[in-house]
Amino acid sequence: METLLLVNLFHELALKGGNRPFFLKRAKAHVKRALKGLRAQLEAAWPMALLFHLPEEAWPEAKERLQDTLGVEGFARVLRTPPDLKALEAALERVLEGERFLSFRITAKRSDKTFPLTSPELERLLGAFVKERTGARVQLKGAEREFVVRILPHAALLEVERHPGPGGLPPGVSGKVVALLSGGIDSPVAAYRLMRRGAEVVLVHFHPFPLLSGQSREKAKAIAERLARFQHRLTLHLVPFSEVQREIILKAPKAYRVVLYRRYMLRIAEAIAKEEGALALCTGDSLGQVASQTLENLHVVNQAATLPVFRPLIGFDKVEIKAQAERIGTYPISILPDEECCILFAPKHPVTRAQLSVVLEAESRLDAEALIALALEDREVVRYTWPGQKTLPEASERPPIMGHGPLNG
Ligand code: ATP
Ligand code: MG
Repeated sequence: METLLLVNLFHELALKGGNRPFFLKRAKAHVKRALKGLRAQLEAAWPMALLFHLPEEAWPEAKERLQDTLGVEGFARVLRTPPDLKALEAALERVLEGERFLSFRITAKRSDKTFPLTSPELERLLGAFVKERTGARVQLKGAEREFVVRILPHAALLEVERHPGPGGLPPGVSGKVVALLSGGIDSPVAAYRLMRRGAEVVLVHFHPFPLLSGQSREKAKAIAERLARFQHRLTLHLVPFSEVQREIILKAPKAYRVVLYRRYMLRIAEAIAKEEGALALCTGDSLGQVASQTLENLHVVNQAATLPVFRPLIGFDKVEIKAQAERIGTYPISILPDEECCILFAPKHPVTRAQLSVVLEAESRLDAEALIALALEDREVVRYTWPGQKTLPEASERPPIMGHGPLNG
């Protein structure tokens, strides 16, 4: 009897028609990278599932990582036994130690149709066994505990515990997007939503250093470090914005400052997108949340960009966004105090219905090309990789020893 790790891939990956092998290959590579340094060894692979041998002591760390691994529908710790009833009963006996529940069900899945028992027969026999050992009752719907048994040609797998993954597509399968990261609550969630759809996200943060402190830069770095766990490789551009702001403060109507800041942010982000080969931008705007996010202002801001600007949070309210930020672990960083660039001489009464004509008139007094070039020149680029440290010593490769039929659902 051995403990193994079974990883099921996100069901949407099965719907990719002719491109399916490409998506699955990327998902599998992503899962393997997530387990880096844990001495996980691939034992078997099916179209939608992977089976790893994993040292017992690596399980807690593997669990933490897989809960954040995009493309993973769910994963389970499983016991592998010979494919016969007695061996399965022995495995169940081991799992039952120290467990207490009042109702349960057995779910059997057979990919080896030569196994002498049908799935319902196996469920009944193992059900009677568990009932006798625990006194718990069988309950098909809403049972407290479910035991999943899979019969393969040369082995049986019994799930000991199962956890959901985040789902989503693995990074990079959908192309590149540049996401504007402010250090607030919203933009990290927006970037994550696009990562979850398989975009490779490049982050850009605009900071007011040296006009204000470098706090927002440090926050952006901490958020990037956190988001790297979803994408494994992540680049953050830290762009000085104070020159742009100085010009806007001097030359544009006060009420229009934030709208102009935003337009310049999009322009600079678009220049970075060109360098990076990204085809879209992303912001954390949510319709009507603050003055800069009225429909009129979004409309005027948007026209500074030629690439599509994705706003995955546009229809979400703050409570929903906050819950997601907590789930992905960026919330505690986002609420740290900072001095972000938009508070710099921000007007008390910002325009809520910006007019393009006013914006264009003000911008005609600014040297856009020079300002953008300067910001790009002085930027700092930081790259993150995850998982970083190897937590267990590397073991020698072992060849796969199983290779059989589909294992799904
Ligand atoms: P967030 O919580 O993401 O800061 P917000 O509700 O504070 O959003 P705004 O400050 O109006 O909204 O910013 C709207 C969007 O503009 C942000 O979500 C982000 O994508 C982008 N943005 C704002 N400030 C910056 C910045 N300093 N650097 C990069 N992007 C920014
Ligand atoms: Mg903000």
